Amino acid sequence: MQKSIYLALGTNLGDRVLNLQAARDALPPTVSLVASSPVYETPPWGVSDQPAFLNQVVHIETELSPLGLLDYLKDLEIRLGREPSIRYGPRQIDLDILFYGQQIISDENLTIPHARLHERAFVLVPLADLDPEFRHPRLGESVLEMLAKLDTTGVEKIKS
Ligand code: ADP
Ligand code: MG
Repeated sequence: MQKSIYLALGTNLGDRVLNLQAARDALPPTVSLVASSPVYETPPWGVSDQPAFLNQVVHIETELSPLGLLDYLKDLEIRLGREPSIRYGPRQIDLDILFYGQQIISDENLTIPHARLHERAFVLVPLADLDPEFRHPRLGESVLEMLAKLDTTGVEKIKS
């Protein structure tokens, strides 16, 4: 049985479609891609005066531990051209760990499940395309149950 490890990919600078592609391509061989959701365009969030985001969720497999995976993804963000920016500000690529199976982690540098995923339609909409019945290990709610509480206005699937 595969562990359910899900990542959220986000980008709002440069060629956004290419940025997502480059991120997916750069994952192997350490991280293998099991499935990719459709890509959604989302209005900017937090800091509103910036370009719209593209968001996608991917199901992955890896032998890396949660902290090992975080380090790997941070390196990858830099290799893919991410520059330091303000929190919630514009970025070439953002790679967040949503779930690592049923593990619950509260480390200084890593919170799993991702601390704000249940508030974010742009994460839950693509996740629902991959695994609608997956249960949040801390909140006990399924992806669809969390999504039902959110306004999904503005989260639009783009043609691939
Ligand atoms: P954000 O994704 O919140 O917009 P950043 O990508 O700059 O902002 O991440 C800030 C920090 O969040 C990272 O340096 C990382 O250590 C921490 N972090 C905590 N939990 C997670 C997680 N589940 N996935 C990715 N990063 C996380
Ligand atoms: Mg991040």
